Amino acid sequence: MKNKFFTSLAIGGVFGLFACQAKEVETIADTCNASLVVLGTAQDAGKPQIGNTSDPAWRSSSLIRTASSIALVNREAASYSLFDATPDVKYQMHMLEISNEVEGLHLGEIFLTHGHMGHYLGLAQFGREALNTGNGGAKSVPVYAMPKMHNFLENNGPWDLLVKLNNIDIKPLADQNTVKISDKISITPFTVPHRGEYTETVGYRLLGGGKSAVYIPDIDSWEQWDEAGTKLETVIANNNYLFLDGTFYSGDELPGRDMSKIPHPTIIHTMEMLKALDPMSRAKIRFIHLNHTNPAHDKNTNAYEDIEKSGYKVARAGERICLD
Ligand SMILES: [Zn+2]
Ligand SMILES: [Zn+2]
Repeated sequence: MKNKFFTSLAIGGVFGLFACQAKEVETIADTCNASLVVLGTAQDAGKPQIGNTSDPAWRSSSLIRTASSIALVNREAASYSLFDATPDVKYQMHMLEISNEVEGLHLGEIFLTHGHMGHYLGLAQFGREALNTGNGGAKSVPVYAMPKMHNFLENNGPWDLLVKLNNIDIKPLADQNTVKISDKISITPFTVPHRGEYTETVGYRLLGGGKSAVYIPDIDSWEQWDEAGTKLETVIANNNYLFLDGTFYSGDELPGRDMSKIPHPTIIHTMEMLKALDPMSRAKIRFIHLNHTNPAHDKNTNAYEDIEKSGYKVARAGERICLD
């Protein structure tokens, strides 16, 4: 009886997650060659988060949010670049592969931002216990990583096994060095300040031909980035779309935890800092990587309304943007 209950609960949860994610995927004109697809919008631990039993997302699959991730689809090659391998990667890849109008769409390569749980643990899905890429004729997955991340994966279990068994093939990345995916599509990593116990952290600039998007799921502060030589306002001016760290809406979301130990610019702070921006520039910005405590996950909150009224957006899983 007990087993049956847990089995049905598990299956219900899995299909609930799959159903709620998959139905949201947008399609766009088949003339678009390079399209960015949002695969997940939550902070590393997803929503609901372990231990937070009062979250209504445990009871309503439409409130589930998977960890922050995006993909860039290259229609000509029927392949896509995946940005981060999250703990939810199997749902995210499935959502993309079944929803895309490109026949035979397959994973081309993975670009990692950094070594925190929401951004690389999904690599385990490519190992011997799961997909086992690189064996039996299947191609190993190219995984682009910065030097410390590269070193971390090669020298720590279980990740070293993925390298030894040829499941993944680590490709070196360097700050500001562009990787060309095709004639038109290119990816450029850039370092950002973020607590780095094991690895550096990068954001990415995705160029799809005519348009560009910037992906920065984690950053400690815009001011620190500015001190290191990069002004957010300049990055906004030079790009068409920006997916920015929106982990916390306000500074009082985690009672009982020292928020200085988990620094992120709050959405309120970012909007205040950018208050001189014109409406067109504001409309380029989508907040992503929302913590489970962030009220902006829910459209029916003052926080969400405030963000929209101020001319910004909250990223949504399934959203698709053409970067041609
Ligand atoms: Zn994160
Ligand atoms: Zn992080």
